[in-house]
Amino acid sequence: MSTPDIYLDVQSVSKDFGRFTALKEVSFQARRGEFICVLGPSGCGKTTLLRAVAGLEKQTRGHVIIEGRDVSSLPVSRRNVGIVFQSYALFPNLTARQNIAYGLKSQRQSRQAIQQRVDELLDLVGLRGMGRRHPAKLSGGQQQRVALARAIAVSPHLLLLDEPLSALDAKVRLMLRGEIRQLQQRLGITTVMVTHDQEEALTMADRILVIDQGRLVQDGTPRQVYDKPATPFVAGFIGAMNFIEDARKIEAGFYDIGETRLSVHSENGTGQLPSGSRVTIAIRPEDVMIQHDPSMSNLLHTRVEAMEYRGSLFRIDLKRQVSFGNPATIRADVPSETVRRLGIAPQSTLSVHLPVDRLRVYGAERDLQS
Ligand code: ATP
Repeated sequence: MSTPDIYLDVQSVSKDFGRFTALKEVSFQARRGEFICVLGPSGCGKTTLLRAVAGLEKQTRGHVIIEGRDVSSLPVSRRNVGIVFQSYALFPNLTARQNIAYGLKSQRQSRQAIQQRVDELLDLVGLRGMGRRHPAKLSGGQQQRVALARAIAVSPHLLLLDEPLSALDAKVRLMLRGEIRQLQQRLGITTVMVTHDQEEALTMADRILVIDQGRLVQDGTPRQVYDKPATPFVAGFIGAMNFIEDARKIEAGFYDIGETRLSVHSENGTGQLPSGSRVTIAIRPEDVMIQHDPSMSNLLHTRVEAMEYRGSLFRIDLKRQVSFGNPATIRADVPSETVRRLGIAPQSTLSVHLPVDRLRVYGAERDLQS
């Protein structure tokens, strides 16, 4: 049963294409006015999920509930949704005004009311004065603004965006990103946007759904998804991540990598594993701290292998110093000012501290975290 605050309730939706299952029991809810990003690599099932919510594709199993009503079998025209696709999908023979007015005409409003609404929408998407142009005379960004205006013209309660920015160049994309978010907040419209761009999802969304091979693997705020990735897939897909794969569990909260014992807060399900289990320990490059105090815990002794200048920081590849074996390289993002002050250079020896609360542990089995 949905609570009044929940606008969209997707319940165990699966989609088969012949013998291939593109979506596997995906469930999530969107509160009224929430901006949700569906994030994942190409082919993971994002568009299929959006199309099932829209009613453009019928799910094989599961239900789509909108405002407490089961719309699973209703066509798109009866779901009160506005949709914007990656490829603007404007009518090329109609002007921007006519494109925007298209959906309004079927609402039996007076000509004057329609004109007034179109003016309002052109203003809203920053296209005042361009209404008489045909799509071919508009830039990609402008065409996408028209598509957005057309989608919200009929005041839908749910806005569905399928990679709306991916066909645009980087600068326009950045600008429209902010504009869409502001517009969405101003209208308070519940929105689900599909993207494969992690930065887009992190900056725009209230909540991110990460999809991996048709399965929802994490549902959380941008900070939760970035700081506490539920699986190695999420950890590797969003942002940069070091994976230390030669780790072994000693006891709850303690893991060995080579000769170094690490204490770890967030065990992420691996607390249940028996001692001696092989695990992977993950830490983001920006969390690897240069440290000269030998009494610190979670200290690794390393040698600088390579340095890459990135303006405000250096990305430094560090080789762990061990008496046996061939340890993996660890990457650290170190502020340029620190590099200058400490005189860090290739082949320098460096001790780094891995903060106990920034380490994540993953079991060898992927399923353990999902
Ligand atoms: P992209 O970012 O590349 O658009 P996506 O995550 O949106 O990818 P989907 O378009 O949802 O992925 O496709 C998910 C999987 O389902 C893919 O493997 C795709 O080949 C398959 N698929 C999608 N539509 C069909 C179809 N009509 N018939 C058969 N397979 C399909």
